[in-house]
Amino acid sequence: MKKGKKLIVGNWKMNPAAFAEGKGLILALKKGMMRMKTAKGVEIVVCPPNIYLRDVIKTIGKAKISAGVQDISVFDGVGSKTGSTSAIMSKNSGAKVAIIGHSERRQAGETDAEVNKKVLLALAAGLRAIVCIGEKERHSNGDYLQFIRTQISLALEKVEKKDLANIVIAYEPVWAIGAKEAMTPHDLHQMSLYIRKMLIETYGADAGAAIPVLYGGSVSPENALGIVRDGAVDGLLVGRDSLNAANFIEIVRLSSIA
Ligand code: PEP
Repeated sequence: MKKGKKLIVGNWKMNPAAFAEGKGLILALKKGMMRMKTAKGVEIVVCPPNIYLRDVIKTIGKAKISAGVQDISVFDGVGSKTGSTSAIMSKNSGAKVAIIGHSERRQAGETDAEVNKKVLLALAAGLRAIVCIGEKERHSNGDYLQFIRTQISLALEKVEKKDLANIVIAYEPVWAIGAKEAMTPHDLHQMSLYIRKMLIETYGADAGAAIPVLYGGSVSPENALGIVRDGAVDGLLVGRDSLNAANFIEIVRLSSIA
């Protein structure tokens, strides 16, 4: 990601029920981007369900939008793993990124060790790994800071320095996902600085500072500008509002001017 470019990722989750609706979303997004003067300042990624990936890529055509997957298998390559899609299969089907360790996967039982394995497989396949981290709840004693530090270090274990350019951290406090309100930009600012400081301590000033840190959790057109500008993040991971073309386009526009 070029310095200063904001990365906006739409996670469609298990939506929509038929591809026709997804096609409409992509076509509206393309139209919206053409109208946007500041679109150069943003990088857009949409992560549809795997079954729509090829059709999404076909609909994107030459537009400057990338497609990604919402998860990859913990198993490598190919084999007898019914229902699984590996990193290399995702890459060979046109995905550029993989969301890894989303809280909904973690709630379904995914462990830190599995997240780490998936991160390494994504990198080996040439995918950019969007590594989701976030505390379930916040206690006033600040425990969540140590929790986040541990989650990041476990997720990035054995990641080589040469691969750091393909790592993105998505800070998604679980309590703010699918909620009524997002985290305040003030609180996010504290957390984004903490994460950045940790990355710099671990990987050095240049490599650590270059890892994009995104925010996710109830982002909407009403709060996107404040979150990106005052929360000091490099972009957003958007759930619900990535399924509403007008809202997603507005979030992209606001991020581009933040
Ligand atoms: C998410 O699940 O990653 C997410 C950010 O969802 P929402 O925007 O709907 O809170």
